[in-house]
Amino acid sequence: MTTMREAPALPDSRTDRLHTGENDPAVILMQRYAEVDEEYQVQLSVLAGLRQGLGDDTGDIADGGSKATDLDTEEILTERLRQRRESLSAAMERAARGTYGRCDGCRLPIATERLLAAPAALLCVPCQVKAERAHL
Ligand SMILES: [Zn+2]
Repeated sequence: MTTMREAPALPDSRTDRLHTGENDPAVILMQRYAEVDEEYQVQLSVLAGLRQGLGDDTGDIADGGSKATDLDTEEILTERLRQRRESLSAAMERAARGTYGRCDGCRLPIATERLLAAPAALLCVPCQVKAERAHL
């Protein structure tokens, strides 16, 4: 008797085909997006809290200075999360259009192992290496 259950499935009939989950980049992609989105929402409230703290600054310059540094750090973190969230969301749009997992450079399918490690990857490894060299 098997009572084994997968993680709570999305209420979407399409996920029936993706039963294996673990090794499906599209599934990993959705999970990763959910994680990053949650982190991003938390980060936004941290940032909002810090900004509020700065608002009731009554002229203590030294204290205000360290708060401003914290705010800078949190703003950088927020921006990084926002970018990750955006690239994952763009990858999900490609999945919806059926072009997910295709390299933007050579149009060949990106290796599954690469997508599992980097679900938002736009380029296959050879194209990525080329792009990075061109950048130097
Ligand atoms: Zn390529």
